[in-house]
Amino acid sequence: MHVVIAAPFGGTSVILRPGSPKAIKVGGARFAEIRTAAAGDGPVPDWLADAAATQWGIALHDRPAAGNVLVRAPGPYRFSRATWEINLGCDYDCEMCYLGKKRFEGLDREGKRRLLRTMRDAGVIWLQITGGEPLIDPDFSDAYEHAHELGMVIELLSNGSRLHNERVLGLLTERPPSKLTLSVYGASAETYDAVTRRRGAFNRFTEGLHKALDAGLNIDLSLILVRRNAHEQEAMRAWANELGLPYREYANISPTIHGTDETLPSQSPEHLTQRAPFRGCPAGHTFFHADPFGRASICKVGREPNIDLVAEDVQGLARLGGIADSLMLRTGGCTGCTLSGSCRVCRPMAKAFQEAKAPLKNYCQHDESR
Ligand code: SF4
Ligand code: SF4
Repeated sequence: MHVVIAAPFGGTSVILRPGSPKAIKVGGARFAEIRTAAAGDGPVPDWLADAAATQWGIALHDRPAAGNVLVRAPGPYRFSRATWEINLGCDYDCEMCYLGKKRFEGLDREGKRRLLRTMRDAGVIWLQITGGEPLIDPDFSDAYEHAHELGMVIELLSNGSRLHNERVLGLLTERPPSKLTLSVYGASAETYDAVTRRRGAFNRFTEGLHKALDAGLNIDLSLILVRRNAHEQEAMRAWANELGLPYREYANISPTIHGTDETLPSQSPEHLTQRAPFRGCPAGHTFFHADPFGRASICKVGREPNIDLVAEDVQGLARLGGIADSLMLRTGGCTGCTLSGSCRVCRPMAKAFQEAKAPLKNYCQHDESR
């Protein structure tokens, strides 16, 4: 198993370590030196061994580059990041979930492996695996290991419900993700179980969280705030602080990806926060999203049109930049809007709210008192 990855990135190159969010930037000449060493029987260059020892505390001096350094080939486009919904199924039933009706469907094990290789060929270095709940997918271990083998640095988004499982935790301990982001739905069993609509969920989550902390995984928390748990906002913050974990709060509820509005009543009105004005986004240009069927879209929100990576392979991604540009035009319900220059949502997000006939106050300045 490789110890570090050398990858071309944005006109330069980076050295990465699986399981770590840190990177070492290197120029073209040094990248070429690593590539030559790894292609033959040369040792890891001393300067790289020194830098890796400083950055990660690992010993690479006098070790062969081949086998220890995985050298990535450049992709044909500008993509370096992707998100992937390994499935849309989940073991929770949260009323605010933007996935709406959640079904287990998509590619089989070999299809998932093929999709990962397509992502690798596209130049994806940083991969976020999400769901649904990724850790309950029967192919998760296989896909996760394969993505590692392909030289990707993996971040996981999870509800944490399976971290208490020894097999799952063993895998993540052996091959740690660079970051494990866990959603938190309450600070008490009563509230957490009510939001997730699963009895015993809080206790399982808490057990898994502590096991993952003991295993030394790099965890941060997403505190999800809705009407049903808003009274525990301070308690959730205090819990995160007590654990010494970084956290972010998410309080703005979106319509579902199917354009329906059943999620919106869970919005806590007093926690509806104003987003910063939208200033553009590299979706579809430097990153993309893949759904469980291997359909690539610009992001999790702008899902149509998409490109079938199974049928078209990496070449299909050549069209994604054009799709992204067309999706950003202020068309549909935003046509001619005089406030679009200071709008707080991108066009794909506005479209999702408009299709769901959401109240303007949830996303649009035309309802703000000025
Ligand atoms: S939802 Fe909008 S801002 Fe977010 S990634 Fe998609 S296009 Fe960009
Ligand atoms: S302010 Fe409202 S109508 Fe105008 S661009 Fe933004 S979401 Fe669309």
